[in-house]
Amino acid sequence: MDLGLRGKTALVTAGSKGLGKGCAQSLAREGVNLVITARGKEALEATAEELRKAHGVKVTTVAGDITTVQGREAALAACPAPDILVNNAGGPPPGDFREWDREVWIKALDGNMITPILLIRAVVDKMIERKFGRIINITSGAVKFPIPELGLSNGARTGLTGFVAGLSRKTVRHNVTINGVLPGPFETDRLRANFSFNAKKTGKSEEELRRARAEANPAGRFGTIEEFGDACAFLCSAQAGFITGQNLLLDGGAYPGTFG
Ligand code: NAP
Repeated sequence: MDLGLRGKTALVTAGSKGLGKGCAQSLAREGVNLVITARGKEALEATAEELRKAHGVKVTTVAGDITTVQGREAALAACPAPDILVNNAGGPPPGDFREWDREVWIKALDGNMITPILLIRAVVDKMIERKFGRIINITSGAVKFPIPELGLSNGARTGLTGFVAGLSRKTVRHNVTINGVLPGPFETDRLRANFSFNAKKTGKSEEELRRARAEANPAGRFGTIEEFGDACAFLCSAQAGFITGQNLLLDGGAYPGTFG
């Protein structure tokens, strides 16, 4: 299936590794030129080069923290009018809410709610003018089933999801859609960090926790970044103009409800 995206431009934030990279590589395969960001230059350049070589698309890198004013300005200067925006950033740390003061909450909201909203604000009207736009927010399965130790993530991402639920119904008339893609367990650095946190808490080894978690998933495994990227690319496709305000859960069936 040709997704009708050849020659379009995407801004993928936090795209050097993990799920963001998965999205960048699926879009590159469809002929989309990319601007990708991350804080660490080395992995960012390596990913960019890998995508250029594999898919022959233009890939521009912007090193910086997307949750800061400077990081966002630099990303938007390199890509002021993307056709596709994939909003991603690292997630907030796990912990106990009794230890989180106002500053900790503001940081989580900045990273996982306000940053994506500000990036949407910067690009959405230009998408509306051009009558094409696809915005994907990488959030978390925690939006549908909260994970107790990830209270900062549960709170901030649900705030973003609520905001987008309203806006996405206003933009779709102009062929600009906004959707959330909600990862369950994908084996990336982020998931490994959770194993390490829980290993310290429970005294079990990281490998033991990893195996038990994979086995407990109905699929008996973790998701791959390729699977994640391809779902994202479909939601960005020309064919997906009637899908907006949705929250697509990719979790191997772990969410136990009859309706997703
Ligand atoms: P990952 O493998 O650790 O990759 C994170 C990527 O984001 C890296 O490229 C990282 O590069 C970049 N990044 C992180 N913070 C950034 C910032 N402030 N500014 C710019 N770039 C930044 O993580 P992942 O598993 O792909 O997770 C992506 C998102 O999905 C996270 O918010 C995570 O909480 C969420 N999520 C993941 C899972 C899962 O199972 N993997 C499940 C639920 C939710 P630098 O470090 O160099 O900046």
